[in-house]
This record gives sequence, structure tokens and C-alpha cells, in this order.
Amino acid sequence: TRPLLSVRDLKMHFPITAGLLRRRVGAVKAVDGVSFDILPGETLGLVGESGCGKSTTGRAVLRLHDITSGSIRLDGTEIGRMSQSALRPLRPRMQMVFQDPQASLDPRMTVEAIIREPLDEHTRLSARHKRDKVLELMDAVGLNRRFAGRFPHAFSGGQRQRIGIARALALNPRLVVCDEPIAALDVSIQAQVVNLLEDLQERFGLTYLFISHDLSMVRHIATKVAVMYLGRIVELQAREGLYRDPLHPYTRALLSAVNEPDPVAARSRRRIVLRGDVPSPANPPKGCNFCTRCPDVMPVCREVDPATLEVGPGRWVACHLHDPAVMRGQTTRPFGT
Ligand code: SF4
Ligand code: MG
Repeated sequence: TRPLLSVRDLKMHFPITAGLLRRRVGAVKAVDGVSFDILPGETLGLVGESGCGKSTTGRAVLRLHDITSGSIRLDGTEIGRMSQSALRPLRPRMQMVFQDPQASLDPRMTVEAIIREPLDEHTRLSARHKRDKVLELMDAVGLNRRFAGRFPHAFSGGQRQRIGIARALALNPRLVVCDEPIAALDVSIQAQVVNLLEDLQERFGLTYLFISHDLSMVRHIATKVAVMYLGRIVELQAREGLYRDPLHPYTRALLSAVNEPDPVAARSRRRIVLRGDVPSPANPPKGCNFCTRCPDVMPVCREVDPATLEVGPGRWVACHLHDPAVMRGQTTRPFGT
């Protein structure tokens, strides 16, 4: 099957300027060579700490920004360099669910008007058809139709996120980028919204890019998981493999902080505490981006940027420990011992 979304070597560099003439003195490499595929109906979990570039990647993929370089193919069509006007007819196919439903809903608009807005913008349906469609969407996301005339402030956080989801689905998209859709919600509501997203995925054949800082949350919804650090994907593999046998030292550290439901697995997983802060994406370290914090760092790591290698079917990692050619020259212990 052809991927619904195929991203290659995506870069988003923001210039740093100085002085009155705004002379360019450098660049923040927010996204620095990201590649992945998502097959139709799959969910790719994109995980990393705040500032790692995951939200920027999500917004770039939807072409909410101009990209610096790289390729973005949506269902076979290259959209990476399209103008905003050329993108317009494709907009219905790709939509976004935002982190903060409070901030993304206009407080002066009724729920009906909010959900109808994309229909007004992109369709020529009659007023009556639009109203029917809005009510159907409210049913689909579990909102009572009788509340169509109310304003966002009358709803709870979870209900507001349902409004945001209904609006995102109004145009029957194929790809939905969910940027931390539950991070702002009460823990008791989070599972409900995740379950809703899963139900809707099955019902409407949706493909998700699901962005989160929380590996334990992604575990429930992702088909495969990509871990980002300082603008790069450092590991990408199917969900089962990632949680059972993480390859990258950074993934291992993140997972060691997650509560492990299986007591046997929990005992064998020692807590790895990372020292130091994430370096600035304006000034990444020489060699491996993770070398300033990696518990397994070797001399070569401070000199040479690791290549991204496929070490098993669909198992990608960017770390010298998994590169036999590099490890032959190293005297450190082999990985995992
Ligand atoms: Fe750690 Fe070196 Fe691997 Fe980077 S390349 S993650 S510093 S072992
Ligand atoms: Mg973010």
C-alpha cells in the first residue's frame, strides 16, 4: 500500500537575525531532516520533550508554514512546495486537532457556527444540508444536539475538545494531525477522548499523526512510534517493538520514567535519569545531538553524527551503538550488556 503521508528530509530552520539591518547570524534548526511514512488507517505517535520540534513538524506537514526543504507527499501528491492558493483545494483532506480547545474555539461563536465554519469555507452545501451535517457530527463525537446554540464557555474541557474534533472532521479529512489533544484535559477525561479518537478513526477511516510528550499515552493509540530529540527523529519502530525493545538510549531513558504495568518488565528496567538540559536548537552539539546527555556516550559520538539505520524490518535508529561499522572501532561494552 502507498503511504497516505510520506515525509522525507523535512527541515524547518528559522533565521536568527541581529542588529537594525536584521542581518542573519544563524538559524534555529527546529526540524532538521525528519523522515517517516504513515499508511492509510495507521497512527504514528510522534513523541518527545517540549521544544523538540514535534509540533513544528505537525504544522509543517499540514503546510501551515512554508518549509525550508524536504518533501511532503499526501496520498502521492507533493505538497511541500505548493503555494497556499494551490493547497486550498487539498485543505479538506488534512485537518488538525489542537492542544488547547479553550484557545482554539472562538468564544463568540455558537457550537453550530464553529463546526459549520469549514463547511462555509470549502463547500456549497445549502444551509439545511450544513445544519444536518453539523448535527450528525455532534452525534458522532458524543455531543448533545440540543446544545448546538450554546457558546464554548458553557462546556467542560472534554466537551470543548469534542467540538474541536467535530470541526476537524466536518470536511471528511483523510489525515488528522492531533497535537497533544488531551494534554490540557483532566486525567479522568483523557481516556474518553482517546477512545473517541480511536472510534472515529475506525468509523471514518482516518489516519493520524498523534503528537504527545507522553510515551504512556501514545502506547494506547499508536501503530508505530517516532521519538524526536532536538529536531531529529532518533528512533522509529512499530509500537510493540518500541516498548519491548527500545533501541536508542534516549528512548530507553524516556521509557524508564514511564510506569510499567508488567511487574516483570518493571523489575528489569532500571530508572535512567538524564543529566543536563536539552541543548538549544540554535546551537546543537557537534556529533550526535544527544551526546551531551547520553549515558552511553563514546568518543566517536562527540565527533560524528550517527546515520539513521534500519536495523531490522521497520526498526530505525540513529545511534552509533547500532552501527557495526562504527562499533568495530570502539572499545566500549556492546549495547545492552
Ligand atoms: Fe549516545 Fe553515542 Fe548513541 Fe548518540 S550515538 S545516542 S551519544 S551512544
Ligand atoms: Mg508543542
